[in-house]
Amino acid sequence: MLRDKTKTIHIGDRVIGGGNPVLIQSMTNTRTEDIDSTVAQIKRLEAAGCDIIRCAVPNMQAAEALREIKKQINIPLVADIHFDYELAIKSIEYGADKIRINPGNIGSKFRVKAVVDAAKERNIPIRVGVNSGSLERPLLEKYGNVCARALVESAIAQVRLIEDMDYDNLVISLKASDVQMCIESYELIARKTKYPLHVGITEAGTVFSGTIKSAVGIGVILNSGIGDTIRVSLTGDPCEEVKTAKEILRALDLRKGGIEVISCPTCGRTNIDLIGLANQVETMVQSYPYDIKVAVMGCAVNGPGEAREADLGVAGGKGEGLIFRKGEILRKVPEERLLEELKQELDNWEH
Ligand code: SF4
Repeated sequence: MLRDKTKTIHIGDRVIGGGNPVLIQSMTNTRTEDIDSTVAQIKRLEAAGCDIIRCAVPNMQAAEALREIKKQINIPLVADIHFDYELAIKSIEYGADKIRINPGNIGSKFRVKAVVDAAKERNIPIRVGVNSGSLERPLLEKYGNVCARALVESAIAQVRLIEDMDYDNLVISLKASDVQMCIESYELIARKTKYPLHVGITEAGTVFSGTIKSAVGIGVILNSGIGDTIRVSLTGDPCEEVKTAKEILRALDLRKGGIEVISCPTCGRTNIDLIGLANQVETMVQSYPYDIKVAVMGCAVNGPGEAREADLGVAGGKGEGLIFRKGEILRKVPEERLLEELKQELDNWEH
């Protein structure tokens, strides 16, 4: 696993790299200077399972707001800076646990050095974030177009620039909205660097298409042993990003804890509102920390048998259903009580 060999980096009280668990990041979409709304959104993200949060810092009010936001939240805070090196320095002063910059758009070497010096003083990591949309012109001319090799060359050059300033508390990201290019970029850079990699598909799209692109792209990268922290980018509620990220990690066995819901696709034997029930169960189980599987099956004939590996489950009948545990039927209950009875089983779960 390449992720076992990356450098260990501390972001607030969290650690990435060196084979530590892959952490989930998300980004607020409130105005950062609107402290109440930003904190409220971060709290929802924390509850959803977000490990590290990033806020955009487009102006000085946003940088100043970080100080108050940080006091009110429990997860590390990353400041996202473009173009203005003074915003990066202020964000560090106001308590950011990490900053994300693209040195290529910060400007002169002097400005990059001023940011690096500020980060060095507090020993906070810098994420060097290269995006396919902001590649330097000489690289575009050299490669003729945006491509994985150009992204990697850009990132390596920017990392070298910071290393030459005697700083190596770094994380790298290489984001492209093209899934294949993104995969290729991470596979290339993982063999060229010791720094932890922040993985994501940028501008992935709406909740539907972005979830699929992210699951495929991030999933392939993680499954090849690459990636220390992930961010799913969706045009939607950031809590959906966190939910998606958790499912990607769980599907790859990179994260334990929390209930996994399995449900059948329904068929001509289904006689209850299984789709509605499965969605309700998925929401209901989120507050339970148990590392178990719950099955929501459409019929009693095949349900308990097909879902034998589930720890707990329901199987629909005609206006009623069965509650079962490890394939063994516990009792029959009316359809409208299935959710409640399942909840009771979870409330009394011995773990
Ligand atoms: Fe059909 Fe029953 Fe299988 Fe669901 S569990 S797909 S309802 S046979």
